[in-house]
Amino acid sequence: MTGDHAIALRCAAERQRMVDRQLRARGIHSPALLAAMLEIPRELFVPETSRAQSYSDEPAPIGHGQTISQPYITALMTQCLELQGTETVLEVGCGSGYHAAVLGALAARVISTEIIPALAKQARGNLHAAGRDGNVTVLVADGSEGCAEFAPYDAISVAAAAPLIPEHLLEQLKDPGRLVIPVGDLEEQDLMVVVKSGGAIHSRAAGGVRFVPLRGGHGWR
Ligand code: SAH
Repeated sequence: MTGDHAIALRCAAERQRMVDRQLRARGIHSPALLAAMLEIPRELFVPETSRAQSYSDEPAPIGHGQTISQPYITALMTQCLELQGTETVLEVGCGSGYHAAVLGALAARVISTEIIPALAKQARGNLHAAGRDGNVTVLVADGSEGCAEFAPYDAISVAAAAPLIPEHLLEQLKDPGRLVIPVGDLEEQDLMVVVKSGGAIHSRAAGGVRFVPLRGGHGWR
């Protein structure tokens, strides 16, 4: 057995444990989502220096002061979007590209914005290495403004903490459409699930979370 093959086998076993203990045991039930997270090699989205944490139950550093979210949080946010496979999804905060890969497995197309150019470049490389770049486009942009070029979106996922729900994101959301976003202060936030339907907007909190701050025009100064 080659070293690479042994590592791939070990990662597959760790991935199975992550899906069983961190996701299924905590109420993540979407079969397509569990299958995607069982399949996508998360270790390819974590830098060499954090690789031992690829399947840990916590966020991991990805450089530039940013983190790849805890697997459970990625799963929870994705489950809240209730994707059927036909959607165009906007992600704000591409980071490592891992969540974009998960969204890409469950939707038709993903546009993922990242404000730090070096991270966007790294994410493109990670997505390519994982064979997940076919329907995922990574753009360097201030996603707090949304991304008018490909709007409107069936679903929007924001991976950084916002002081308020940015108006542009609501405007770029289709009707019907769903948005998940952590809203609160710099210390802690509520994960808000916003549903646009029949011309009305409803939101509910899906639990307490801690995200890195949203920067840009509608983020924190
Ligand atoms: N979804 C990511 C986690 C991202 S962490 C993953 O799976 O790895 C949040 C990311 O949001 C950071 O990379 C940060 O640089 C980025 N970010 C913060 N403000 C942003 C903005 N206004 N537009 C786009 N990206 C932003």
